Amino acid sequence: MCGIMGYIGKEPEKNLIEGLEKLEYRGYDSAGLCVQRDGDFYVEKTIGSVDKLSKKTKRQDSFGVGIAHTRWATHGEISVFNAHPHFSSNASVSLVHNGIIENFETLKKDLEKQGVYFYGETDSEVVCKLFRDKLNLKTFKQVLDKLEGSYAFAVISKQDKSIYFAKNKSPLYVSLGDDCSMVSSDPSCFIGKSDEFFSLADGEYGKLSLGDVKFYNKKNERVNKQKQKIDFIYKNENKNQYRHYMIKEINEGKTTIENIAKEYCDKGIIEVFEKIKRSDINRVYLIGCGTAYHAGVVGKYYFSQMKKYDVFCEIASEIQ
Ligand code: GLU
Repeated sequence: MCGIMGYIGKEPEKNLIEGLEKLEYRGYDSAGLCVQRDGDFYVEKTIGSVDKLSKKTKRQDSFGVGIAHTRWATHGEISVFNAHPHFSSNASVSLVHNGIIENFETLKKDLEKQGVYFYGETDSEVVCKLFRDKLNLKTFKQVLDKLEGSYAFAVISKQDKSIYFAKNKSPLYVSLGDDCSMVSSDPSCFIGKSDEFFSLADGEYGKLSLGDVKFYNKKNERVNKQKQKIDFIYKNENKNQYRHYMIKEINEGKTTIENIAKEYCDKGIIEVFEKIKRSDINRVYLIGCGTAYHAGVVGKYYFSQMKKYDVFCEIASEIQ
């Protein structure tokens, strides 16, 4: 799990750092940003917290197009080389990624055979190298079609005042503010700049510019999307009076469980459970990583009470 953010508008560095502060719960191995102004990239990366990145970052008031990332490393050690954003061979395209590209080794070998040099070990860098320094809707889709795995991407180039984005099995949201356009792993980053956002479905991608966004589906057809209002669950996502997110999460456990229960009851989870009960299923697998795995262990306890099922709880990365 990582957090990604993209921003088009004035004071991009300030706004990207503010976004990353809200995304830090998604990863804290390293943080980085890349801002394009007048055809040049300004880049900062650091191992560790967003606070460290914030201290290094030189802010400018003028208009820019930027992307930023807070990393939870899955492929490649925690290092500045492996920190996002990543770059194409001539550093004219820059990308942030949340997810895991399952076929990255095959893609990397092919590129190496063609003489492409890699500075790090991440699956994400391989995706950026696939652009071969050319970013437009056509090359973007061509690259997406080569990928197997999960991703939320935000990609920029030196030539363009747009952000190209795509989602598959990792969260991604887009928002148009009064004087800015944004893309993020979590709509809480939009608060204060916009009250509305668009949700992406798996396989969708698009192009974001100042005041405009175009969405496409897997078949390259234009998609019209309805805006959603930012609701109370997202509005609660800041540190409030707490010194650390961990203390905040511990104290807000009760409200969080109530919010989640409400959200899923609204989405018909009870019906799903009723269907499971009525079916002839006799084996249940609960899979998850981190906290979700621990929630699965609790779920295993409850399912086991029903005696009807053999219940297994596994760490998701171990499941083939
Ligand atoms: N696979 C990427 C990396 O290790 C992204 C990590 C993630 O989304 O958790 O840098």
